[in-house]
Amino acid sequence: MRAFFSSTLVAILLTSLIVSCSQYKDNHLVDGVSRELAIHRKGNISGVIYTLGFSIPVRLDAKIPATLEMEFLLKSKEDVVLDFKPHYTLVDSSLRGAKVNGESCRLLISGEHLVIPSRYVKAGKNRLYLEFDAGEQSLNRRKELLYTLLVPDRARTLFPCFDQPDIKAIYNLSLEIPLLWEAVANGKATTLTSTQYSKRIAFSPTEPISTYLFSFVAGEFQKLSNNRNGREINIWHRENDPLKVGQAGDIFSLIYSSLEWLEDYTAIDYPFTKYDIVIVPGFQYGGMEHMGATLYSDRTMFLEKNATITEELSRAKLIAHETAHMWFGDYVTMEWFDDVWTKEVFANWFASAIVNPLFPQIDHKLNFINSYLPPSYAEDRTPGANAVRQELDNLNNAGLVYGNIIYNKAPVVMDKMVEMLGDSLFRAGIREYLNRFAYGNASWDDLIEILDNHSDFNLKHWSNVWIKEPGRPHLFIASNGDSFETWEEDPLGRDLSWGKQPLEFDLVPDPRGEVYGLVIPDSALLALTIENLSKGRVVDDVARLASVINLYELCYDGFVAEEVFLNLVAGLLVAEQNPIVFSRMAGYLSSVIFEEHHLFTENLLSGLYKESKELYKRNMAFRAFANVVRSKEAANELYKAWDNPSAFEYVTPGERDLMKIAFSLAILFPEKYDHIGSVQSARLTSNDRLEEFLWIFPSVSPDKEVRDSVFSSLLHEQNRVTEPWAEASLGYLNHPLRSLNSIEYITPALEICGEIHRTGDIFFPARWFSALLSGHSSNEAARLVSAYIEGNRELNPFLKQKILQQSYHLYRK
Ligand SMILES: [Zn+2]
Repeated sequence: MRAFFSSTLVAILLTSLIVSCSQYKDNHLVDGVSRELAIHRKGNISGVIYTLGFSIPVRLDAKIPATLEMEFLLKSKEDVVLDFKPHYTLVDSSLRGAKVNGESCRLLISGEHLVIPSRYVKAGKNRLYLEFDAGEQSLNRRKELLYTLLVPDRARTLFPCFDQPDIKAIYNLSLEIPLLWEAVANGKATTLTSTQYSKRIAFSPTEPISTYLFSFVAGEFQKLSNNRNGREINIWHRENDPLKVGQAGDIFSLIYSSLEWLEDYTAIDYPFTKYDIVIVPGFQYGGMEHMGATLYSDRTMFLEKNATITEELSRAKLIAHETAHMWFGDYVTMEWFDDVWTKEVFANWFASAIVNPLFPQIDHKLNFINSYLPPSYAEDRTPGANAVRQELDNLNNAGLVYGNIIYNKAPVVMDKMVEMLGDSLFRAGIREYLNRFAYGNASWDDLIEILDNHSDFNLKHWSNVWIKEPGRPHLFIASNGDSFETWEEDPLGRDLSWGKQPLEFDLVPDPRGEVYGLVIPDSALLALTIENLSKGRVVDDVARLASVINLYELCYDGFVAEEVFLNLVAGLLVAEQNPIVFSRMAGYLSSVIFEEHHLFTENLLSGLYKESKELYKRNMAFRAFANVVRSKEAANELYKAWDNPSAFEYVTPGERDLMKIAFSLAILFPEKYDHIGSVQSARLTSNDRLEEFLWIFPSVSPDKEVRDSVFSSLLHEQNRVTEPWAEASLGYLNHPLRSLNSIEYITPALEICGEIHRTGDIFFPARWFSALLSGHSSNEAARLVSAYIEGNRELNPFLKQKILQQSYHLYRK
């Protein structure tokens, strides 16, 4: 996928936009925030200060009255275009009391924009005052809580603004909230007045920040405070399980360690007023880096009591990731969302560097390979693969730029770059970058220019193929007498070269896990690899993991038979002593490509959870087992574990494990649906989790009519508000055991993908497609997906990529 528009078309659009800025009455402004509008505004507008007030009532259906006072400097006197796309139809009457520079003004409505006619403004400082009803699309409004999530271009759904990352602004916020609620925002809560039913909290002004980082949370929350070396951090949460709340000490400690590491590395003190985190039940991402009010999902922060070391490590990395964003993303921000990957690659790359010393028992080279290669390959191997950096014409497509390529391929590329530069030159370059663009914006080219100056190597040229082109190389290795011959091919026929990668053979190909791409050994080396692995000769963990990952990729792409891979892994799992390698191999067994081999995987995992000596192996194997159970015999075994978990001698499933197992069991034992539902409901200790369970449970009903009605309900936006629940429901409706009955869901679920994109958050479209398609494996499913794509030539190219990525397994045979 390349640019959206040809350059001629861009030129035409640019001209029409310039005209529409001055003659908006004749020309409708383009919806969203076009690149052209953003460039034009950046050239004319600066010094923006928003003063916002929201009055949040208890009643969910009551409107949220709001006020906006906005100060901005104009270079030249011209129409001022604001972005505003509330969920309601924007009419004059929903905007009240507009004044510009003290004078009453009728703002003009043009699609998703408000326009202040030029006659009301002047060059220099201007003031806009406006009363309006807040838009609610990104308010995540629920019974006892509400939180904003405005990334990437959703600030405009809440209030009128210049919604682009390079017009940074200072925010003054005040909130009126129900008396028993708490509120957290970017600034410090400074004043508080209360009445019988409500209270008003004002927050200190922010530093200059981008619209997508402005945030507040309000609701019934409890607060835990902690202090280290004079720095105070608060955790706000709604958890009532003491075992989970008891993990707060670990969380505080991870935050402090991350902050201290970053201050030391960058030589820049934490650049914002305060550091609070909010743990939100059912939060749709792992975390979101709003400074002063960083949001985390309860699932990733509060671990189950039988959590594995890899889950602990993931939590640590998530905290380090969001904390790294305070410097990379929040302090220095990309100019436009085509470079959003730059903040993500820094966050992920630094997260690895920060967490490594905290887990001395873990091999971090091993962990790096395990974290980044498999998810990156999952997208890069498909015809929907995208480049790390993608052209973006309009911010209304920015959410679709995110995916595994940004999060997982980019750190691999970054790692190669740091290796070329060396640690100290890289650090010097990073410090220069942060200082030069402090509280401002920078592009990838700005960064590469700085790093290039620190290096003799032509980084720009090297990085183009990695950053600006999709796909992975095929790397061939063949024995040639005493030596090995290696060569690279571009499977997409573009004749691209990714540059020299150090591919060697020592027992297995790439024993040090240094290459990115599909390594294809000749048949002799493939046989030797499998023999060396199965005979236990590959004692190095990195060599073993790298070769298993590559063999899985070879299996996925048809170079290795499924039976060969499964037999090999069966032997390796029994002997495996490394938790990371074990968990990766056990995870592969629930891959959709082994669905037909479920009797084999059930038996294997059942044996492992019962017979392994190590508790971590039993836990990991049991979780993987619960995912692959299809046969009656295995189902009975799983039922026994769930029915009386305290008598289950092999592992102790956690609350969330049991909830997940209950969903599977309801599918496996349709006649026990009601019983399973009532037993599991009675077990849940938290109201939030009970609500989640009851919400998802009808999707596993034995009654097709009930499931059909669940499916129909998911087609409506209001039933997808808590996205992880909607995703889980769609996944269970399309469970492999129900795939014959759910094939009819495929087309209608694809048909609303435009709406899924417009109304859903960043990761939701890909997750929607994955939940819909990963339980299917039939030719009919493939035919329906192809028919949808072929019948919709105008389909948004980003959405098409996502569908191709998530449906690739349907086409592999
Ligand atoms: Zn991030």
